[in-house]
Amino acid sequence: MSKKETKLQGWNYSPAPESKSGASLKKQYDLFIGGKMVKPTSGKYFKTINPATEEVISEVAEANAADVDKAMKAARKAYTGVWSKMKASERGKYLFRIARLIQERAREFAIVESMDGGKPIRESRDVDVPLAANHFFYYAGWADKLDYAFPNRQAQPLGVAAQIIPWNFPLLMAAWKIAPALACGNTVVLKSAETTPLTAYKLAELIQDAGLPEGVVNIISGAGATGAAMVNHPEADKIAFTGSTDVGKIIQKAIAATHKKATLELGGKAANIIFEDAPIDQAVEGIVNGIYFNQGHVCCAGSRLFVEESVKDVVIAKLKHRMASLIVGDPLDKNTDIGAINSRSQLQTIENYIRIGLDEGADMFQTDCKLPSKGFWCRPTLFTDASQSHRIVQEEIFGPVLAVISFRTIDEVIAKANNTPYGLSAGVWTDKGSKIFNLTTKMRAGVVWANTYNKFDPVSPFGGYKESGFGREGGLHGLSAYVQF
Ligand code: NAP
Ligand code: MG
Repeated sequence: MSKKETKLQGWNYSPAPESKSGASLKKQYDLFIGGKMVKPTSGKYFKTINPATEEVISEVAEANAADVDKAMKAARKAYTGVWSKMKASERGKYLFRIARLIQERAREFAIVESMDGGKPIRESRDVDVPLAANHFFYYAGWADKLDYAFPNRQAQPLGVAAQIIPWNFPLLMAAWKIAPALACGNTVVLKSAETTPLTAYKLAELIQDAGLPEGVVNIISGAGATGAAMVNHPEADKIAFTGSTDVGKIIQKAIAATHKKATLELGGKAANIIFEDAPIDQAVEGIVNGIYFNQGHVCCAGSRLFVEESVKDVVIAKLKHRMASLIVGDPLDKNTDIGAINSRSQLQTIENYIRIGLDEGADMFQTDCKLPSKGFWCRPTLFTDASQSHRIVQEEIFGPVLAVISFRTIDEVIAKANNTPYGLSAGVWTDKGSKIFNLTTKMRAGVVWANTYNKFDPVSPFGGYKESGFGREGGLHGLSAYVQF
């Protein structure tokens, strides 16, 4: 077996890397403001690296308050001058065009997403990019049908939306934010996350090619201070934020008693619940998909596994067996299941939680797969015999770390699952429809998946209860976040 081959329970998978030549990247990206790439007033640029190799792949402009001001004013000008006056069916045509161009350039987007963020190409290719295109298609269809979405209410746009996104689904989050805003007649300023700015700038190039009137979409990059300047800018009529609960709280305080509307999509600590009558093999796939998918960098990750006592041993045995076959490594390899952790600091956060779990006395299992020598990596990790009071059960880890807790009755598992400050999502695995309905009505979670996990569709609204935020993205609900009556 050559060094590069991966030993996998008797199967040898030869490397199947996607070629980087499918993507062209500039050495440097300026800010996309008023339809043009413009130099930052700050004069500053920062580097973005490939977390799988630690190589610098490009550098991007850091927008300061003056740059944010320029972008917000460009969005206001486009809103009053062009976009809010345009026939809705014309607006829809631009959105359809953006959707088609994303499809045409899907391969390039997938490669750049995997290089900049570390997620496996299989996911960026099969999940992130097609879903991003589908969101534009879906909201393109609504643009001239707002009277049907909100009958007899004459929905009006809000104005300028300041949109701030995290690093775990960079292109998809941009699509979730931009598509409904534009469909309803708003204009936007979007800020990408510091570690994953590149697909947003690829989207800026595509938007230029789509001929969108200048200033309707402005895309900038920067750090937390850039986001704060957007939130506090007087031209912002709407703040759409996806990120941590801590920053969500800062934003909510900052806009208190202003005219600004907000949707906050924040953290999560989802319960994935397995009953003894569940299809166990499928449930194990669902557990793996729920927490090891995208390195656990998923707000709705099924990070707490509740297993009915009678099937606990068999579920854990099968899960360990399945975990041993997961391939951790090069995100551009089509065989890879778990890519690179997004940044050094996120890896440190995850490693810190693993230490906490050990100190708290939970039993840890990790696979012994080989890890590349450079880059940021974490083996799939399982903590059994965790208890409700453990920090690894209470706090969001945002990495491939699963905590297992057993239960005996339905009421017990509902109480335990709801015992968290979060309420974004949950999963339930059982043969009985009645159990599913019982749980979906009693779980305080915005999304409950039954006998599946991490399924997304532009038609389904997504969003949280409690400290997972408020407002919904996707579906008709996602439109209502961008209109007033
Ligand atoms: P984060 O630190 O809150 O950052 C999110 C975005 O906000 C980034 O663009 C960030 O810029 C920016 N930001 C930081 N401080 C800010 C401030 N004071 N004012 C305005 N913007 C600010 O979150 P993260 O750690 O990158 O992302 C992971 C979190 O996002 C997790 O908690 C996860 O659960 C949550 N998430 C939720 C959903 C959902 O739909 N509910 C989806 C995905 C992720 P920088 O990049 O420069 O820090
Ligand atoms: Mg990067």
